Parts: sequence; C-alpha cells; structure tokens
Amino acid sequence: MTTKLKGGIGVLAEHLRDLFLDAAGEVRYRTKVEQILVEDAHVTGVRLKDGEVITAPIVVSNLAPETTLLDLVGAEKLPSSLVTRLGGRDHRASFMQIHFALDGLPEYAAPYDFLNEPGMQMSVGMFGSPEEQQRQWEKARGGEVPDNPALSIQMPTVGDPEMAPPGKHAASVYAYGFPIEAPRDQHGHLKSVMAERVVDKITRYAPNFKDILIRDITFAPYHMNTMFGAPNGDFCHGLLQPELMGPNRPGPKGFLDEPIPIEGLYLGGAGCHGGPGITFIPGYNAGYQVLADAGR
Ligand SMILES: Cc1cc2nc3c(=O)[nH]c(=O)nc-3n(C[C@H](O)[C@H](O)[C@H](O)COP(=O)(O)OP(=O)(O)OC[C@H]3O[C@@H](n4cnc5c(N)ncnc54)[C@H](O)[C@@H]3O)c2cc1C
Repeated sequence: MTTKLKGGIGVLAEHLRDLFLDAAGEVRYRTKVEQILVEDAHVTGVRLKDGEVITAPIVVSNLAPETTLLDLVGAEKLPSSLVTRLGGRDHRASFMQIHFALDGLPEYAAPYDFLNEPGMQMSVGMFGSPEEQQRQWEKARGGEVPDNPALSIQMPTVGDPEMAPPGKHAASVYAYGFPIEAPRDQHGHLKSVMAERVVDKITRYAPNFKDILIRDITFAPYHMNTMFGAPNGDFCHGLLQPELMGPNRPGPKGFLDEPIPIEGLYLGGAGCHGGPGITFIPGYNAGYQVLADAGR
C-alpha cells in the first residue's frame, strides 16, 4: 500500500521547516555552501558562495558522503585511505522523472481495464520480467535509451482531488535506465527521446493518454545534480547495492571501521545508513550522535 500525504510532499517539508523555526532555527534558501572549514581536525564552520563565513562548532551535512568530504572539506584534509574509499562510488541510479498536467484520467484498455476502477490509477507500475529489466539496463549501459523503459506512475490527485482544478489531474512518472554513461553533451537529446518513449508506452496501455496531456516537464539526472547537488544526478546518494551497504555505508561519523577524523562534522544524508529515501533515519541518527558526543 502506498501512503500519500494530503497536499503533497511539500506539506511535509513545510511542517519540518515550521518545527525548526519554532525551535529558534534559521533557514537560508538558495545559499550555497562552498567549503566546510576545518582547523586542526576540528570543524569551525562553513564558507558560503558569496564569501560569508558562518562559524559553528558542529556541522551536519545531508549531501552525499563524498560530496561532503571530498568536495566541501577537501581530500587534503583526509587520510588517503578514506579518500580512496570514497572515490568511485556507484551513482548510476539513472532515473528520469516527468511531471504531467492532465485533462482527465488515463483510461486503460483491456486486459488492464480494471485499473479504471475508482482509485486504481493512483499508483501504477509498468515493469517487465527480470530478464527484460536486465536487457533494458544493458541498453542504457551502452549509451542507448531503453526501447521499453520500465516506469511507475503516481497520480496524487486521484486520492487528493483538491491538488488540481476540478476534472484535472497531475501525474508523476519515474522511468528507469537513462543512459547516464553517454557523453554529457548528448543528455539533453537522450532526455527528449526517452520522454517520448515513456509517453508512447503509457499510451499503448491507456490509449487516451496523449489526448489528455496538457503540459509536461522532464527532469534528467543532470537536473537533479544542478538542483540538489546529487552526484551524477543520483538523488539517493547511493542505492542499496552490496558495495554500498553494511560496512560500506557510513553513519553520522563515517564508516564504522574508518571514522571521519574531524571533530564536529557529521553526515546525515541519504547516502548514510537508513537511507536512501524519505526515511528521516540518517538525520535522526546524526542528531542523536551530536547529542551523545556533547554528553547529552
Ligand atoms: C523527483 C524525486 C522523487 C522522489 N521520490 C521519492 C519517493 O517517492 N519516496 C522516497 O522515499 N524518496 C523519494 N525520493 C528520494 C528522496 O527525496 C531522497 O532520497 C532524499 O530527499 C534525500 O534526502 P537528503 O536529506 O539526504 O538530501 P536532499 O533532500 O537532496 O537535500 C539536500 C539539500 O542540500 C541542498 N544543497 C546541495 N548542495 C548544497 C550546497 N553546496 N550548499 C547548500 N545546500 C546544498 C540541496 O539543494 C538540497 O536541498 C525522490 C527524489 C526525487 C528527486
């Protein structure tokens, strides 16, 4: 079963912001941290893109572990073994996302017409067999757009109609296998090709889809990189695959067998244990580690 938030995921972010502000926190939007400052193995604060320095005895980062440590702290401040371990982490989580504004609901054709029953369109997945998934992945690895991209469709307005004008709907589609390893200058074109294949595929199952399509916007991994600082566009900061699990996934103080040798610096993002996804666990762990280290 999928749980949906009334009002959409933004409601959750707003709630967290309000809790933080109520606890006397200060939030700065569109404020890029360019460097995490470290002196004598102690964190001293951050330097912003505009040059402003914010001093702090504790810094918690929810960026990817290697973005935090290699890009913002700097490899020269870390033991070479840790630098090697953080390098080359696999970020080929090549999702593409398309948001659609729709003039009505998709109508699925037989034998999938049971999806037209009330509420069923809220969450629909179109996946092939494991062999087919593997074939699509291998196509993507070769720099080609999958010819039959696996995808999932979420329609929040099915359960929460007030999110759209009467009769209209919003849909978000995830499609898998964007050819992330193709040269970067091809990504814009590949994005358009893949978006077209996604729309064609949905229309094969729901023939009215192209007719109800009012507007769409597509985000490829390079957008996720620009918008969220996600490495290679991997907003999961590392999926749950064996080499990024167990001892190879850090906690608030880094790897259990090789902690970050910088006092006051903590990791609290999706690339840590408890991630990825909207789980709150990495941030929870980081917060409690900070309190524990402060003797509270
Ligand atoms: C389109 C989309 C749909 C998703 N859907 C789901 C879902 O349905 N379910 C689910 O569980 N997960 C979903 N995820 C994944 C989930 O959102 C992430 O795993 C999670 O948000 C990661 O949390 P985080 O706090 O580690 O990092 P983020 O949420 O990425 O937060 C990092 C923040 O740091 C900011 N930032 C980056 N660089 C800097 C810098 N240098 N200085 C200052 N700030 C910086 C970014 O702008 C961002 O606000 C989705 C992600 C995306 C992009």
